Amino acid sequence: MKRRPRIAIDLDKTIAHYDGWINAYTVGEPLEGAVEFIRTLQQAGWYIYIFSARAEDTVSKSVIQEWVCKHFPFLLDTQKIFVTNVKSRDIECFVDDRAIPFWGDYEATLDYLAEYVKKKEDVKEALAERKLI
Ligand SMILES: [Mg+2]
Repeated sequence: MKRRPRIAIDLDKTIAHYDGWINAYTVGEPLEGAVEFIRTLQQAGWYIYIFSARAEDTVSKSVIQEWVCKHFPFLLDTQKIFVTNVKSRDIECFVDDRAIPFWGDYEATLDYLAEYVKKKEDVKEALAERKLI
């Protein structure tokens, strides 16, 4: 049997509301459309990992697992819930609010980066202070 391709989905600001760190027990409500997004990926045959730096400690990891089970219970029909902070080799691709895609073209990557900076005022300010933009 062919193994399903793995996709890692970031948690905060990708599928969950995030307005700054509160504590390890607090994860924001799902963003609008997140449930449909995850369901679409599942139906397309992806094996879904939830990817978060928070998962470096076991308490946070179990809090996220519970959150995923609560908001995306249908995932358990086809897979286990995997929460990770490890960029494992078996993960095909990542969806992240802070990702810049690289498709083999550095010029295009710089364009994506410029778009990203435009959207992120705090990054723009930090770069401007160093006169990099
Ligand atoms: Mg994020």
